[in-house]
This record gives sequence, C-alpha cells and structure tokens, in this order.
Amino acid sequence: MNLIELTKKFPTEDKAYAYFEDNRWSKGVICAHCESTLVSKKQLDGRFKCKTCRKSFSVTTKTHLHQTHIPLQTWLFAFAIVSDAKKGLSALQLQRNLGIAYQTAFDMYHTIRDIMAEEKVELLEDVVEMDETYVGGKPRKPNIKRALTEDGKEYLIERTEEVKSLGFDLSAKKGNTAKVDLGTKRGRGSQKLIPVTGIVQRDGAVIAEVMSSLGAKKLEALVKKHVDLSDSLLITDTYKGYSKIGKIIEHIKIDHSRLYSYNGVNTNTIESFWAIVERGIIGQYHHVSLAYLPKYIVEFCFKYNNRNFDDMFETLVKASMRVKIPKAIIHNPNKPKKAPTKTNNQKKGNLGSKKPKTKPKLPF
Ligand SMILES: [Zn+2]
Repeated sequence: MNLIELTKKFPTEDKAYAYFEDNRWSKGVICAHCESTLVSKKQLDGRFKCKTCRKSFSVTTKTHLHQTHIPLQTWLFAFAIVSDAKKGLSALQLQRNLGIAYQTAFDMYHTIRDIMAEEKVELLEDVVEMDETYVGGKPRKPNIKRALTEDGKEYLIERTEEVKSLGFDLSAKKGNTAKVDLGTKRGRGSQKLIPVTGIVQRDGAVIAEVMSSLGAKKLEALVKKHVDLSDSLLITDTYKGYSKIGKIIEHIKIDHSRLYSYNGVNTNTIESFWAIVERGIIGQYHHVSLAYLPKYIVEFCFKYNNRNFDDMFETLVKASMRVKIPKAIIHNPNKPKKAPTKTNNQKKGNLGSKKPKTKPKLPF
C-alpha cells in the first residue's frame, strides 16, 4: 500500500483503530483477559470493558503493540514504509519519514522485526540448498584505481606473454569472475565475523539463523528442524561440516573450487539470498551490531518469504495483533524493570562504529 492510499484509508486515529480491531477480532470483540464475548461497546477512550471479568482492554492489549504510546495511525505508516523498503531501511530514515524521535523509530523498527519473527515457515521440502555466509564489519573503502602508465601496460603485456609461454592458464575461469566486494567476507575461516546459515527451498521459502559456530552437529540440527528429511534433496558445497549429513537426508555436494553448477546442481538460490542480505546490510544499515544481527536476518527472511505476496503490509498488521506478551508484563505492569543483562555479543563489542544500545526494550 502506498502512502497516498494509506492516507486516504486511514485519515484518522479512529480509522486506524477500527482497522486493527477488524484484524484482531474478525468474528466480534472478545475480552483480551478471559476471552468472554460479553463486552461493552467501545468507550470514548477506545477501550472495551468485559462484563465477565470486569477488566478493561483495548485492541492492543497483550499484542505486540501492548501499551504502545505511539498512535496506531503512525504504526500503520511504519508498517507500510518498512514493508515497501525491499532492501530494508535505516531507523534514521524511518525517523525522518514519520517525524518522530530517533529512539522511537529505532524501537518501533525492532518491534516490527519481532512481529516478522512470528511468521512460521513450513518444513522445507523437495530440492533445498544450504550454505553459510559471514556477516559483519564495516564496508571496505573502495580501491581508487589509477590509470595504468605506458610502462605498466608494457610490463603487463610482456609478463603475461612470458608466463603463458611457461604454461600458466590466465583465462577467466567459471566461478572466478570478479565479484563486487560489499565488505562482507564470504566463506569460512574469516575471523570476528558472524556465521549465518541459510536453507532455501527452490521456488520456496528461506530460513536463516545466526550461528555460534558451524560444527557438523549444529548444521545437522538446523536441517532436522527445518527440512522434511524424508522427501528432500539437500545441495551444499563440500564443507566438511556436511560430510555426514547424507546419513539423515539425500545429499549432493558441489565442489566450488572446481565449478559452481553442474546440470542444475548448484547453490545459486541461497547465494542470491545472501546477495540480498549483503546489499541490505551494507546499503542500509552501514554497520552491523552483533547484538541485532538476528533481527536483521529475520527481516530479510520475512521479506524474501513474502516476495510474491502483494501486501506485506496486511500480513504485518495481522501478525501485530497476535497475542504475544510475557505474562509478567501483563499481570504486573508496574513491576520494576531489571537492569538489562549483557549478551555475549554485547560483551564482545560490535563490529561497526557504533556501540549497540543496551536500553531495555519497551513493552509496546
Ligand atoms: Zn474478561
């Protein structure tokens, strides 16, 4: 939905409320506390009162937007802007588009990613490809190329002829073509970068998870969790972590040091997903905080898996209305918050230029 349509459809906060209500209670309002259908008419403050348990509630009670202080109209705009940004956008851009404080935009964006994480992907099946990438670090400065001098040209012409006459093959090899280096190092063995493993069904959905390591057991657990073992063919490269995976699933591997594709045996689909992740992270987020990487990955998966649906916006609104709030927050909203405990990633520091924010998450 574009912004003009959005403005026409939701010109007021009341209209936005009504839209969320339709999405949450398509069969009529039920109490958010006891699920009773005996509820009052909507009161002036937008809340309902339950005639069974006597408690009051609103359309956001116990959902991802629980106790939000942000107008629901603003949430709808945020959903539209985020779902329209195919490669993602920065919190700064969201802040500018919505005319809100940076921290608010930052928190809203993370809540939206939590909503995206609600999406359940069915078991992957048929032909599935699996691969890993490493994410993190600041983008490298581009090489500044200077024009070759006449001497330089002469040297190259002479030397290439010399080495060819010695039997070296300098022709371009398949899989060895120059790739644009977007700053994320590909392949295993790189240090301080975070491994992310992905599995994609050809013409289907993708799943990707940030991994603490790439051991065979962890890779196998991921396959067991997400792939229909009895009815699928797994294609990977020749990494040793996959050497025993053939015991649990049909497995075929392709040696990328030799070639990238043979008769359809390739990992091109998952590679193209990594390209989206790389472009998105480098293009939009500039620096990647280790602490938030899983959330960014959730966003890329959600967008990839909804790529064929016209309205990601509606999916987000529906998902935002699912009941999903820790009971502690519901039952005791005034309970003092614990100091945020640092995650291992935060203790280690992040890879980018900014420190990850350790501010406790607001229970929207
Ligand atoms: Zn009730």
